[in-house]
Amino acid sequence: MSDTPFLQALAVSKIYPGKQLSGVKPTNMVVQPGKITAIIGESGSGKSTLLKLLYGLLSPDTGEVQFKGERIWGPEEKLIPGHDAMKMVTQHTDDLNLFAKVWDNVAAMLPATDLAAKQHKTEQVLKQLNMLHMAERRVADLSGGEKQRVAIARAIITRPQVLLLDEPFNQVDTSFREGLQSDIRQIVKETGLTVIMVSHDPAEVLSMADALIVLQNGEIIEHGHPKALYQSPRNLYTAQLLSNCNVLTTTEARLCGVDIKKEHAVIYPEWIKIKVVTPNKGWTVKQVLFKGFYEDLILEQRGVSLRIVNEEPGKYTEGDKVAVRVGKWLEY
Ligand code: ADP
Ligand code: MG
Repeated sequence: MSDTPFLQALAVSKIYPGKQLSGVKPTNMVVQPGKITAIIGESGSGKSTLLKLLYGLLSPDTGEVQFKGERIWGPEEKLIPGHDAMKMVTQHTDDLNLFAKVWDNVAAMLPATDLAAKQHKTEQVLKQLNMLHMAERRVADLSGGEKQRVAIARAIITRPQVLLLDEPFNQVDTSFREGLQSDIRQIVKETGLTVIMVSHDPAEVLSMADALIVLQNGEIIEHGHPKALYQSPRNLYTAQLLSNCNVLTTTEARLCGVDIKKEHAVIYPEWIKIKVVTPNKGWTVKQVLFKGFYEDLILEQRGVSLRIVNEEPGKYTEGDKVAVRVGKWLEY
């Protein structure tokens, strides 16, 4: 049947025993094939639990997960937990053989029945992940980010239909992370691999994901395209996850010339423009945070702080008096 969802959760829940209610409440979700779906939420919101339920590493209390219309078996029902068509990589992936070469670590995932195919596929995957030049190096001698690449290579060489990533880039430094992210995007585009990733890094989910799922206290509170969720989040929680935004009360908002009807105004740093004004008026530049080709400025007036993005580095110095103009805001 063509209208059978690729992967879906039907009223799936998993509540851990204990004083505090924790885990995942009854949840419905659909994962589109050949896309990157990102699950974002604060620490403890249930991201890893949901991922394990989707993979079959945990048995749900209620509901079921279906892959191509068939129920996914839990760990009690299967000799090797986890669905055979899926692979999962976490930041604790430590089943690497540290004393073997990168090449052998990756090739070891394939059967030795067809050596030519094994050779060809290993080379192909190492190429896709930009690792061919380190094929002969021992895993023990690699950086954390490089080891994560090996773990991902090992996961995708067996051609899983779904790759699950649980914050695998946490230990990877920023410059390295971007390369890895774009390589994964490229692989998804070329091979039709389906990726479900868990993250709490807004830059990562915004640049990588085709679909975004926001989890709060074990519940999906909204989902959609990353751009849409960023531009007009329905919840304050989502805005705060996706942007380093200013959250102001009604009175504080008025200081920026913003009149709101609801309790909170949310203003993203890039929605505020400033200009220098005659001294002793308006906002004071308290901090200039150099970010390379732009700066973050922290402004202050009457005890209220405001973070803004300044695209002309060097234009303002600490102590400058400025006026602000807010182009857009959200109300919650
Ligand atoms: P996240 O990945 O979003 O940080 P988790 O899914 O790991 O969240 O955990 C969600 C909640 O469930 C947390 O409050 C966590 O402490 C609790 N939890 C996770 N695993 C267990 C477990 N095995 N036993 C009891 N509580 C757990
Ligand atoms: Mg987690």
